[in-house]
Amino acid sequence: MGKGNGDIIKVEHGSSCAVTILLSHSIAKNEQYLAKFANILHKMASYPELDYILNFAATKARSGQLTFELKDTVFFELDSGNCKAIQGTMFNHVMNAFRNEKKYLISIKKIKASVIIHELAHMIENELYSFKSKQFHDCFIKDMRASLISNLSLQTIINSKLVNDLKLYPASEHHAEVFARFFELICLCNEISGHEENTGYDLLTLCNSFPNLMHYINNILKPKVLDRTYTDITEYSANRNKNAKRSASWSNDKVHSIHADTKKPQWRRTVKSIKDT
Ligand SMILES: [Zn+2]
Repeated sequence: MGKGNGDIIKVEHGSSCAVTILLSHSIAKNEQYLAKFANILHKMASYPELDYILNFAATKARSGQLTFELKDTVFFELDSGNCKAIQGTMFNHVMNAFRNEKKYLISIKKIKASVIIHELAHMIENELYSFKSKQFHDCFIKDMRASLISNLSLQTIINSKLVNDLKLYPASEHHAEVFARFFELICLCNEISGHEENTGYDLLTLCNSFPNLMHYINNILKPKVLDRTYTDITEYSANRNKNAKRSASWSNDKVHSIHADTKKPQWRRTVKSIKDT
């Protein structure tokens, strides 16, 4: 992938950490973009609803098939990101032969989790030949008809992003857009988007509102993605999240016992900042 004058690219080889790999395949105009991107990727990687997607992306990046380009937002550009697939021939070391493989260039013009995941979802759909976004769409419709969404903010955002905005797209792209936009909804929940978006619903509310879709994601989509992901990357992320959970529950115990004894509020702040990183 070419890089222009003044671009910054971090080089790090041989890692199993998805975030490190993705950063080492990202091109940015300044360090702040990379730092912001890194923070968001770390947060996304700590959620089981998203970590396997980053692991798959890291697999593609380590195979030389995915590069991120972090850009300025230009006010007249309507899209906040895009995913370009470039058909190419690559040497496959396992098969000892040349194969047709796609390369992806994902441009991120607004560095936000919802934009990053939307473009990654488009890459996943393109890469998983056996995956049909129509089945995903059918589950989405089934859940929508069941009217399980009681949260008003969530209802509003679904109507805007997954119903009204879709009218701007040709019908042939609707299934793919619903797929990418549902993952956007995951990233727009309060825990992941933080104060920036203030969308007014949490991840559990979203998952409970779409039981068929979540079942499809966990039992059909996720295993397909895992099959195509380097094992060392999956294992690294599973261990890291297990350890993070353990240290978070230790931190909570510590906070409770300290508060019970001395009620010192500064401990809560300290522990919170450790958990948030
Ligand atoms: Zn899209």
